[in-house]
Amino acid sequence: MTDMMNNKHVRVVVRTRPTTRFASQAIEIIPDKNIVNIHVPKPEDAGFINNQQSDWSFKFDKLLHNASQDAVYEECGTPIVRSLLDGYNGTLLAYGQTGAGKTFTMTGATENYRHRGVIPRAISQVYKEIQARPQYAYTIRISYLEIYNENMIDLLAPVGQSVDMAVVEDKNGCYVKGLSQVIAANEEEALNLLFEGETARSVGDHALNRSSSRSHTVFTIHLESKSRVDSSDDVIFSKLNLVDLAGSERLAKTASSGKTLKEAMFINKSLTFLEQVIIALADKKRDHVPYRQSRLTNVLRDSLGGNCNTLMIANIWGEADHLEETISTLRFATRMSCV
Ligand code: ADP
Ligand code: MG
Repeated sequence: MTDMMNNKHVRVVVRTRPTTRFASQAIEIIPDKNIVNIHVPKPEDAGFINNQQSDWSFKFDKLLHNASQDAVYEECGTPIVRSLLDGYNGTLLAYGQTGAGKTFTMTGATENYRHRGVIPRAISQVYKEIQARPQYAYTIRISYLEIYNENMIDLLAPVGQSVDMAVVEDKNGCYVKGLSQVIAANEEEALNLLFEGETARSVGDHALNRSSSRSHTVFTIHLESKSRVDSSDDVIFSKLNLVDLAGSERLAKTASSGKTLKEAMFINKSLTFLEQVIIALADKKRDHVPYRQSRLTNVLRDSLGGNCNTLMIANIWGEADHLEETISTLRFATRMSCV
């Protein structure tokens, strides 16, 4: 597979969070055409200095309006997992303001089968697909990393253990040295690792001081496959990163105390660097992609662009109170889908 076959470097899908308070005066959604139009009436007293744009029209690869978890997975998960099995790395990222549905999209409500998100469904599909390929021997490993204020936290680390981590590169690609990669023999074991990581995230020492919306998490399914029929010892490595990004909302100017301000600055920087990396990947003349500017892009550097499948789900919350953030998310999504 070359970029010719898939000349988009990142596929962008917009997902709306269902709400009974949908701002229908301001937001028009045309699902069949994948279009979102937004109209914000100018305030009556706007003086001549107010030249703010008040109408926007956005068009995306795919717009999933009030879609079920099933429909989201079919659109976003199924193809990327299939290509993981074919040996390609992939990254699926959920972007959006806090409350827009990123965690619902990625993890979902695990107690309700129908509401399971992309991660449990991807796990399930991986084990189903490998059963259908008995001519290969597979080993599946799971890692679960949290990035908070540019620090890396291993959510699957044995209790009480803490090691220094660093992103390193070898012949098989890059990986985070020191980050646990736990073998999962079956779907149930892989799901348990997801729950274990979620628990570590909410009760660990480092968890006491911060809200989950302020960090990125990267759940990775590492796949190693070896032919049982060929005599060759070739091993194929591929991996899929499932990323729940920190909330993209801008901080209210009045609410910026030391800690929240620091968090917001780290988030803002890492989302900006993510954008810069994706833009640089799209530019054929550019030979320097600035992966090292942030932890997130450094961790993902062999799984973005090129032969990798990169998909971003931009989550929006179409209520009047969140119009500004909705516009900001749609603008980010548009910039991503243009490269
Ligand atoms: P985020 O992770 O972006 O901060 P969440 O995924 O936690 O947002 O969603 C906020 C709330 O909205 C949660 O209670 C979640 O269950 C609910 N929610 C989000 N998206 C959906 C959806 N598509 N369908 C039903 N409930 C949703
Ligand atoms: Mg969340």
